[in-house]
Amino acid sequence: MARVAVVTGGTRGIGRAISIALKERGYNVAANYGSDDKAAEEFSRETGIPVFKFNVADFAACTEGIKAIEAQLGPVEVLVNNAGITRDTTMHRMSFEQWNAVIQTNLSSCFNMSRLVIDGMRDRRFGRIVNIGSINGQAGQYGQVNYAAAKSGIHGFTKALAQEGASRGVTVNAVAPGYVDTEMVRAVPKDVLEKIVARIPVGRLGKADDIARTVLFLVADDADFITGSTLSVNGGQHMY
Ligand code: NDP
Repeated sequence: MARVAVVTGGTRGIGRAISIALKERGYNVAANYGSDDKAAEEFSRETGIPVFKFNVADFAACTEGIKAIEAQLGPVEVLVNNAGITRDTTMHRMSFEQWNAVIQTNLSSCFNMSRLVIDGMRDRRFGRIVNIGSINGQAGQYGQVNYAAAKSGIHGFTKALAQEGASRGVTVNAVAPGYVDTEMVRAVPKDVLEKIVARIPVGRLGKADDIARTVLFLVADDADFITGSTLSVNGGQHMY
């Protein structure tokens, strides 16, 4: 039977590539999204992957979302915590709302989603959780105190939960992408982006498929000896 995989923020950008790659590899995929119904409907029509709209920052909404996914597809065996947002500004201009939105959406979402599937994974003695971190959680970034804190938190979350899951067949890993050509990065001013690309030894932005390939590697059944790790996929921009 095909394993059931959930990808949060799975309808656009990196998440979209992860959803498609998992489906092509034979997983039974559910793609979550937060607000962009048009993009989600197009994605679902093009790929045949069912979409589930709920806010990953809201535990009650996640509870309903996971219930709906499991009713349609069966127990979740693979979880990719990918949904994320940015609200960039320097600390002295940052509002509590900008801080909190990023922490809740990028970090608390990992708790919300993992908490709802961990019991089943432990009972069945199989689970794969992959959290999408960031180079900016490893290295810090000007204007991203909120985002860097959330992503850095993901790396600690991963290592702690990996220790808890290890004896139950549940692996927990993180992927730390560098700058990947998605709408999130297209929002960066052109001159800033040119400077960023100049600092990437491989000489290009990452592609969403570069990240999807890494997720496939980590969720495979025979990747059971890899847990608690963070794989950097950043063209050599930051070696951690
Ligand atoms: P995009 O902005 O292209 O896509 C984000 C996805 O997350 C969308 O599907 C969006 O759905 C969903 N989403 C956002 N907020 C919520 C929410 N509250 N509930 C449910 N879904 C939500 O982002 P990317 O593909 O660029 O980024 C994906 C992940 O990779 C993020 O965690 C990001 O931080 C990380 N990352 C990205 C890098 C990059 O260079 N692009 C670099 C390093 C890390 P909708 O639009 O419907 O709300």
